[in-house]
Amino acid sequence: MKTKASSAADRFLTYLSPTSPHPLAIEVDKAEGLYIWDTAGKRYMDLVSGIAVCNLGHRHPAVIKALENQLGKYLHVMPYGELIQGPQVDLAERLAEILPEGLECSYLVNSGAEAIEAALKLAKRATGRTKLVACHRSYHGSTHGALSVTGNERKKYHVRPLLPDVHFMRFNVHQDLTIIDEDTAGVVIEPIQGDAGVRIPEVSYMKALRERCDEVGALLIMDEIQTGMGRTGAMFAFEHFGIQPDILCLAKALGGGMPIGAFIASQELMQLWTHDPMLGHITTFGGHPVNCAAALATVNVLRESDLICFVEEKGALFESLLTHLAIKEIRRKGLMMAVEFASPEIVQQVVTRCLEKGVITFWFLSDPVSFRLQPPLIITEEEIREACGIIMDCCQDLDK
Ligand code: PLP
Repeated sequence: MKTKASSAADRFLTYLSPTSPHPLAIEVDKAEGLYIWDTAGKRYMDLVSGIAVCNLGHRHPAVIKALENQLGKYLHVMPYGELIQGPQVDLAERLAEILPEGLECSYLVNSGAEAIEAALKLAKRATGRTKLVACHRSYHGSTHGALSVTGNERKKYHVRPLLPDVHFMRFNVHQDLTIIDEDTAGVVIEPIQGDAGVRIPEVSYMKALRERCDEVGALLIMDEIQTGMGRTGAMFAFEHFGIQPDILCLAKALGGGMPIGAFIASQELMQLWTHDPMLGHITTFGGHPVNCAAALATVNVLRESDLICFVEEKGALFESLLTHLAIKEIRRKGLMMAVEFASPEIVQQVVTRCLEKGVITFWFLSDPVSFRLQPPLIITEEEIREACGIIMDCCQDLDK
């Protein structure tokens, strides 16, 4: 019989399925605002917002209040779509208010990958076509459909076959738009590629993409799972490009720290789930009332506060303070940033040293020479100066 694991780290490594050989493995005690504390009392600045989730910081008071209020009323009562649950309706209505016409109807799910799965289904169902187009170096999730449209072969080759009829084009390359044709059901794209290391396309490319989809009758699916909810200095990144998608996918920061996803389209498209067959897409927990209450509070704070107005300014301050010679490039939109170095080894050293000094940064899935900075939007100027000072110290240490 196996001896019982003893320390928290041993138990973590023994009983929970691992995803990497070297997890950060900080034992979390509590988290508030920009900070996470470990059980030894060490404080960390969270500069990645739990990977683009805690845009309002950890445990935002408005989110906690909404959660407490809903916990006193009801938890799960019925799978999605049958009973009228106030938090779901309120959230969907609020999303319709902040989105343009054509994106007025939300289907609430549990996660980003699930939103993508359903969006792909909707595009196929709506067009009667099977071909899907996605971009190289994209990340759309780890379930089979979402992985099929993810442009990172290393994540896929062990688990093929995946979805058939998926075609890839280069991101931000005009010539490749001809891959989208009359057989294409949908094109799925991140308006700014996140895990490729923050790749920002030209406005003209995004406009041409929209035009191409219209020309051939393909649906444009925008994956704003990482870019949404104020991260880039607009509520949704598609606003920067003067276009709008046919289907918008959200998750991560939508829930203010609670798990929720959504795919949003027109009423007309969403009616398709109701017939031939009815219950065309169903979920037990999607739109959980407690998570909807948290999401509504999150959207309200983002809409009613001036947080988004200062995102670009705060991002620019980061950029101006990170000026070490070892830094090759900073790619940034608002508070979505990639800091590039000469090699993965240097990235490893900087990330590790930052962690030792109480600053959490993190890697990208498809860009080994950069690390990510995606701090909560509530970060103050003083905190930005302190965080950048620590990162710069870690860069200086590289010379030693
Ligand atoms: N799409 C993008 C752009 C993402 O960054 C992620 C997660 O990192 C996903 C989809 C998948 O979301 P989830 O992890 O909630 O399934």
